[in-house]
Amino acid sequence: MSPRATDPAVDQIRTVAAGAPGLDALLPLITVCRACPGLADERLSVVPGDFPRGARLLVVGEAPGAQEDHAGRPFVGKGGQLLDRLLGDVGVRRAEIAVANVLKCRPPNNRQPTRAEANRCRGWLDRQLQLVDPELVVTLGGTALAWALGPGRRLADVRGRVHDWNDRKLVATYHPSAALRFGPAGAPMAALRSDLALAAETLRGA
Ligand code: URA
Repeated sequence: MSPRATDPAVDQIRTVAAGAPGLDALLPLITVCRACPGLADERLSVVPGDFPRGARLLVVGEAPGAQEDHAGRPFVGKGGQLLDRLLGDVGVRRAEIAVANVLKCRPPNNRQPTRAEANRCRGWLDRQLQLVDPELVVTLGGTALAWALGPGRRLADVRGRVHDWNDRKLVATYHPSAALRFGPAGAPMAALRSDLALAAETLRGA
């Protein structure tokens, strides 16, 4: 049976999200979500994402960490600082792109999101995608890749190229935390840098 058939919260979130005519209406709905009690009880804030008007690029990460949970904004910690720097190096300003996560709440101790949590929360992200309507989506890491292309895909097999995806372009790449973990000379840093350059080039050509 599909997760949607077994978990009523999946369809409830989709229905509520579909009723929001714009991001201004959607974001307050996300901030009161308690579909995952284990996350809702532990969080300091919900992190719906950053959505500057007219964004042509949506970057999707995994879930807020401790600093994002404090700040209520995505990618403000070390990984976010690296992301901002690498984007800046290829001529993309963070202030002009949309940034969101698969999960809007921090998993305790930064554990990986469960499949059930990701299935529930994707109703919010799918609606954000519709409302932002970006030309290009960049996914960071395995959880965001699974959101976009389904589970069981290896990042190494899909990164490094531009995919046609639901009438948009998609670039899948490593998460900045992997780049930090393997260090400046590691393969994930080189891949992230070159995939973000590809994303910037795609935006310029679009
Ligand atoms: N990691 C993510 O995936 N998202 C954030 O917002 C911060 C760290």
